[in-house]
Formats: sequence, structure tokens, C-alpha cells
Amino acid sequence: MKVAFFSAQRYEEEIFRSVQQQSQVEFDFIEARLTEKTVQLAKGYRAICVFVNDILNEKVLTELHATGVRFIALRCAGFNNVHLPTAKKLDLRIVRVPEYSPYAVAEHAVALLLTLNRKTHRAFGRIRDLNFSLEGLVGFDLYQKTVGVIGTGKIGRVFVNIMKGFGCKILVYDIKTDAEIEKVATYVSLDDLLKQSDVISLHCPLNDNTRHMLDTQAFYSMKKNAIVINTGRGALINTRALIEALKAHKIAGACLDVYEEEEGIFFTDQSNEGITDDILARLTTFPNVILTSHQAFLTQEALQNIADVTTANLVCLLETDHCENEV
Ligand code: NAD
Repeated sequence: MKVAFFSAQRYEEEIFRSVQQQSQVEFDFIEARLTEKTVQLAKGYRAICVFVNDILNEKVLTELHATGVRFIALRCAGFNNVHLPTAKKLDLRIVRVPEYSPYAVAEHAVALLLTLNRKTHRAFGRIRDLNFSLEGLVGFDLYQKTVGVIGTGKIGRVFVNIMKGFGCKILVYDIKTDAEIEKVATYVSLDDLLKQSDVISLHCPLNDNTRHMLDTQAFYSMKKNAIVINTGRGALINTRALIEALKAHKIAGACLDVYEEEEGIFFTDQSNEGITDDILARLTTFPNVILTSHQAFLTQEALQNIADVTTANLVCLLETDHCENEV
């Protein structure tokens, strides 16, 4: 089965090419992101493979169906970019990769936290400029600080355990409790978590209940020394509210791997054109904000798992009526 592989990046092509050799799936790599403008590239394919910033709204799904697409393989865990009622109505079968490496994402969250706190990004730049001054580089010990984790699923629990290793006190908030987590952390209300934590990390999915979970009120209830980490989805945070909180020094900083308007910007090189998104531009000016371009998943192990599971998912769709990883 030939599969149109949208938003193809060089770092994943090689791995997918090697996996497809042992299967009946053949990927055609397309650099373009799937949008209303590019949907016609799927013509002639029964299956497509997409990533987090490909658009799968009502219009795109309807056009995909009209061109003959029946299977959609998401090479990611989240499926907030898919209009599920339309997919269901059109009988489009959708599969995803529910878990590829929770360690990759949790470890990236820790990397961002350590960088922002100990200012190693600034130190790196200074040393290259032969500036050996330590002025402005004071951080704080993580030991015995309170870390608040929102969402204690696969990624959240890895993050909890890493931070436990640093000697932190862990508070957690989730819509359901977990006995294993209770052994190392304390479940509290969202409000208490926001008020008491020195570090707050988001690991819940984006949905109608969690959109803009961190808004003006949330930022204003946090400690002034609080660092917020978001490796979940951009829209968990109201970015305008975050900017106001940073400007008013209501929190100490933010580590962001995701941004609510990242589609069409993240994963692309904009260094020649510049960006027209003023909110993102403002975020990049804060010395106490670290941004990465949705790269938390990007490890060898995660890429290999994504390629293996996505290919197996497609074979499953082709051969059976129901797959384990169907959305
Ligand atoms: P998961 O489904 O294993 O865990 C999510 C947890 O969030 C669950 O325990 C769930 O009960 C909890 N939750 C749901 N609604 C909640 C709410 N309203 N308040 C608090 N908790 C709530 O998912 P996961 O594998 O741990 O992934 C978490 C999120 O991380 C994904 O949804 C995805 O958006 C994001 N993610 C980002 C990257 C990246 O590269 N930045 C990679 C993978 C996943």
C-alpha cells in the first residue's frame, strides 16, 4: 500500500525508509504540511501519514475522503488536530502512536528547566564571546523545592520520578488518581498546586476542559519565583496572559516546547523571512523564556518506535477491521 507521508522531515525519512523495507507499506515523502491548499497531493492514495501540525479539519477530511483516502496514520500520540465527528461520519479509520517514548518528552522538560534555572543558554553565549562574568546567572537549588505536575499519565509519571530523584517535593493534579503516583507524590487541587509550586509542568492532553488551563488568574495565583514548563500542547496556556504575567514579574519564567499558534512556523526555517506572529516574537524577547520548536519527542528511540508502530498500524488497517491503536 502506498502512503502519502505529509510534513516529511529528513530526520524521520531515513528511519521510515528502513522500516518500510520489511513491510507491504511504501511511503511517498512529501515535504508540505497537510492543509486545505495541499490536500490534493493525497489524490490516488488510500492512506496518508500525518504529524501534529497537519490540518485534519472538516473540510480537509471531506476532501481527503473524496480523493479516495480511507486510512489516516498519525505518527504522534495526540489527536487534537483531527475533527473526529467528521472522520467518524465519513468512516475514515484513524490510528495513532499512543506511546513512543515518555522518557524523551519528560527528559526534555527537565533539560529546559535546568537550562532556564541555571542559565546555561546564556553562559554558553557569553563564553563564546569571551565574557567570563557570572553576573545575572544566579539560579536556585531544585533540591527540596516543590514541583507541581499537571497530568500524571505516561509522560507526567516519568517527570514525577525524575524530579523525585532531585529531592523535590511533588504535588500532582489529575482528573483521576493513581496508586503508584501516590507513593511518591501528593494529589492536590489545581488551585493548591498552582499556589504552592516552585516549578509547574503540564502533561495533560489538550481538550475543551484543558484549553487555556493556565490563564491570567492561574498565573496571578502562582508564586513569584515559579517556573512554568509546557511540553504538552501550546493552547494549554493562554499565551497573551503568560506574556502579561512575565511583564508584570508575576512568575519567574517559562520553558515552552509548544505554542498555541505553532502550525506553519514550528518545524520550518523562518530565518530568512522572519516571523509575522507578534505574540511569538514577543515571547522570544524575554531572557527568562526558553522556546524549543516542539522537539521534546525528538530522540533516536522515539523516532524508531514511531516508525515501527506507524508502519504496523498501517498494515493492521489494511488487513483487519479493528486495530489496537485506532482513535
Ligand atoms: P496520557 O494520556 O498517558 O496522560 C495524560 C494524563 O492527563 C492522564 O493521566 C489524564 O487523566 C490527565 N488528564 C486528562 N485531562 C486532564 C485535566 N483536565 N486535568 C488534569 N489532568 C488531566 O498522555 P501522555 O502520553 O502522558 O502525553 C501527555 C501529552 O503530552 C499529550 O496529550 C500530548 O499533547 C503531549 N505530548 C507532547 C510531545 C512533544 O513532543 N512536546 C510529545 C508527546 C506528547
